[in-house]
Amino acid sequence: MSTLMREEGFRYAFNPLACESCEGRCCTGESGYIYVSKAEIEKIAELKNMDTREFVEKYLFKKMYKYSIKEKKVGESYECIFYDKDANGCTIYDARPSQCKTFPFWDYYKKRVDELKLECPGIVDV
Ligand code: SF4
Ligand code: SF4
Repeated sequence: MSTLMREEGFRYAFNPLACESCEGRCCTGESGYIYVSKAEIEKIAELKNMDTREFVEKYLFKKMYKYSIKEKKVGESYECIFYDKDANGCTIYDARPSQCKTFPFWDYYKKRVDELKLECPGIVDV
């Protein structure tokens, strides 16, 4: 049975089974921004059973007028602070931000499929 995910307007599909052996390439690698909205901040803080202000100070940083999740440097690479290599996954999965939920179907990649394929082994031409 096919497990491919598709989104209208995108000329590729995504095979989520690829995540099992990928070692979180979308959560690690080059440094980047993982933006979180106010509602998402509250949801993640609740999941972590933390006061919102305490959560913001510990896990986020301000980029212009937005908040982004902190990263940790691992060797020459960077990892989202919520990525757990041993568990091969996101420790806040149920409350992960929209930016993470919608990957790999970002408008940015609509015309950059080759670039996306370098990052995500689950991309399939359709
Ligand atoms: S890069 Fe692609 S295959 Fe790897 S964890 Fe992220 S979504 Fe899954
Ligand atoms: S919040 Fe979770 S899904 Fe998003 S980058 Fe961090 S570890 Fe990955």
